[in-house]
Amino acid sequence: MLFRYIFPNFGVPKEIKNSMAITTISKKSKLKQQQITTVKDSTNPFEAMIQRFDVAAKIIGLEHDVYEVLKNPSKLIEVSLPIKMDDGSIKVFEGYRVIHSTALGPSKGGIRYSPAVDADEVKALAAWMTWKCAIADIPYGGAKGGINCDPRTMSVGELERMTRAYTAAMSDVFGVDKDIPAPDMNTGPREMAWIVDEFSKLKGGFTPGIVTGKPLHLGGSLGRVEATGRGVCTSALEAMSKLKMKADKCKAAVQGFGNVGSISAKHFEAAGIKVVGISDHTAAYYNAKGIDIEKAIAYRDSNKGVLKGFKGGELITNEELLELKVDILAPCATENQITAANANKIHAKLIVEGANGPCTAGADEILHNNGVILIPDILANGGGVTVSYFEWVQNRTGYYYSEEEINKRADRWMKQAFQNVWNVSTKYKISMRIAAYVFALEKVATATRSRGAY
Ligand code: GLU
Repeated sequence: MLFRYIFPNFGVPKEIKNSMAITTISKKSKLKQQQITTVKDSTNPFEAMIQRFDVAAKIIGLEHDVYEVLKNPSKLIEVSLPIKMDDGSIKVFEGYRVIHSTALGPSKGGIRYSPAVDADEVKALAAWMTWKCAIADIPYGGAKGGINCDPRTMSVGELERMTRAYTAAMSDVFGVDKDIPAPDMNTGPREMAWIVDEFSKLKGGFTPGIVTGKPLHLGGSLGRVEATGRGVCTSALEAMSKLKMKADKCKAAVQGFGNVGSISAKHFEAAGIKVVGISDHTAAYYNAKGIDIEKAIAYRDSNKGVLKGFKGGELITNEELLELKVDILAPCATENQITAANANKIHAKLIVEGANGPCTAGADEILHNNGVILIPDILANGGGVTVSYFEWVQNRTGYYYSEEEINKRADRWMKQAFQNVWNVSTKYKISMRIAAYVFALEKVATATRSRGAY
């Protein structure tokens, strides 16, 4: 096994080897080699998804018909939402919902509010949900929604009206057995409460199973808020045990301090890993002795949700955070943070993707050739949707589990998912990224094939 980390291309099928041929240029010392990428370093999320999908499809010899079905989303809904702003003006927001696949069950995936939202981003995120649910072994297809807006500049009233308008526009798309939304970037239990309320009013009956990530008092699940970050930590620990990395000897940096980043950091710290760097969109901090994550969370919560001004570490730049001399790096912010431009500067041995799409295909190649082990988003951040599934099951049966029970099940699910992908990676001698796609694609393709077509 170790052989592969020293010679990462050892045993890789020929066609794959060609697509990631190593080009080396000598740098400073003769021993030090700097890898450059030979694949297109696309920052378009849909293209970035397809790049990995294509490599996996080749490995499993996916037939053209199924390839065509799974390459494209099955449905893309785009709506214009005219919203009355607090100053009396009307502003029109573009909203999207993309259903990528329903081969394995009703489609599942969050809704994000961000100025970067567009059709290609939502299409990629929806496909990633299909692969993520297949890896997590939950009976769902994949979807994603989003509204192009800047929630930081909007009042609570404006956000509520926009969320309700979006729900009304999507009321025939969403359904307990059709398409089930959830939180994503800049949305949380508050927005999910508005969605369940609006949908229930429109349909004339309380329907908690229409959305997950709800507040507890509206049928939410214990453990859901922490689920994604908890799962990121579980997958890091699984990888560390395979790589014989001891938690108390490891340092970590976490990029992003929203739900996923802050909870991942909290669980890293609890596992004995020293978190020496944290950041959000306003600031990044370094502390060689380890950052007190509880203090950082308390500071953020009392400081309009941002880290700027935190006193628990020295101020560094976001680039410096990614390049810190740490063992573990968890990019938990957004897409395209590690690209071919900075992948060579990454010191971490293990990357755990809390965010969706934080590394480009160009970065993947460089990291892989540098011997970095990367736990891909569609595996590492699957804890959130796994507990979403538990929430949905609880809503449907009307029986609610304890937090201990939820966490125990979620941990078991995550560990199994990690092992499944690890086995594929070992079998084909490929990176964990491509192994995750191979595992998911085999499963979704089988379901797609057996369901047939017109
Ligand atoms: N937005 C989360 C994700 O990207 C959770 C999705 C869900 O729970 O449906 O995985």
